[in-house]
Amino acid sequence: MAELLKGKAVAEAINQRSIDTVSMLKENGIQPSLAIFRVGNKEDDLSYERGALKRCGEVGVETIQYIFDEDVSEETFYQKLEEANRNDTIHGILIFRPLPKRFDDEKLRNSICPEKDVDGCSDLSLAGVFTDKELGFAPCTAQSVVEMLDHYQIDLKGKNVVVIGRSLVIGKPVSMLLLKRNATVTICHSRSTDLPAIASKADILVCAIGKAEMIDHSYVNPNQIIIDVGINWNEEKQKLCGDVNFEDVETKVKAISPVPGGIGSITTAVLVSHVVEAAHRKI
Ligand code: NAP
Repeated sequence: MAELLKGKAVAEAINQRSIDTVSMLKENGIQPSLAIFRVGNKEDDLSYERGALKRCGEVGVETIQYIFDEDVSEETFYQKLEEANRNDTIHGILIFRPLPKRFDDEKLRNSICPEKDVDGCSDLSLAGVFTDKELGFAPCTAQSVVEMLDHYQIDLKGKNVVVIGRSLVIGKPVSMLLLKRNATVTICHSRSTDLPAIASKADILVCAIGKAEMIDHSYVNPNQIIIDVGINWNEEKQKLCGDVNFEDVETKVKAISPVPGGIGSITTAVLVSHVVEAAHRKI
């Protein structure tokens, strides 16, 4: 049986670090604060928002919610965003995307002031990930992968890491973060050929695909560590599942992060730690 890399312990350790920093910041008269922008009432957004509010409360980060009806005008939305950008008492801004289609996503992502881009979605934040500069923040899910590997003391130096997925939110940034830790990184995608042959040679396999249970025993080896980033709804089984067929590979690898209970449990802790870091960078 593989070792289970659970996210809860990782999130708790990140939270504890945040709590310590918040207490130091408060001694210096700084109250970290996160502004949350939501348009409409999508269940996914509401559920992530509940998680973020809970974590902020636990850590001592204040929250301000900007909630708009589905038909909010761009003018009203951007006016409020600009207010939050200019407000010195707000250290982080999270916008639930995508917004309704009339909002241009690229404009939206880049309208958040980079030092408050705690979700790591602006081009400048991504440039920071690629250039190793503190221009903004790494996307939370990508960083959660590194946090998990660090927590379980999985050494990355010289390891063969295969990342399946090349999105701007996960695949590309996580590859850069792992490269920074001296891993040898191979990035695969939907046009890669003979994926099982590439993946099964990996010491560490990071799956960020969005295809329910696609990764089976033909992609793995007995010494492999799998980080399953996927969150998919399995219609047939009527349950949440990852990109990895857990039952099929569990007995054939060294360690695996479960879904749910793996990477997904770490992202809000990373988000809140970014808010704390944004406040810390001010002193
Ligand atoms: P995405 O933008 O759709 O990207 C998926 C990537 O997978 C693309 O690069 C795509 O290749 C590649 N891909 C698709 N089918 C493939 C196949 N058959 N073989 C090889 N590669 C394939 O998705 P994303 O936003 O990165 O999200 C990926 C997964 O992570 C989703 O399940 C999402 O729900 C989950 N997620 C989890 C968290 C968390 O906190 N755990 C947060 C966000 C997202 P091409 O580039 O060639 O199209």
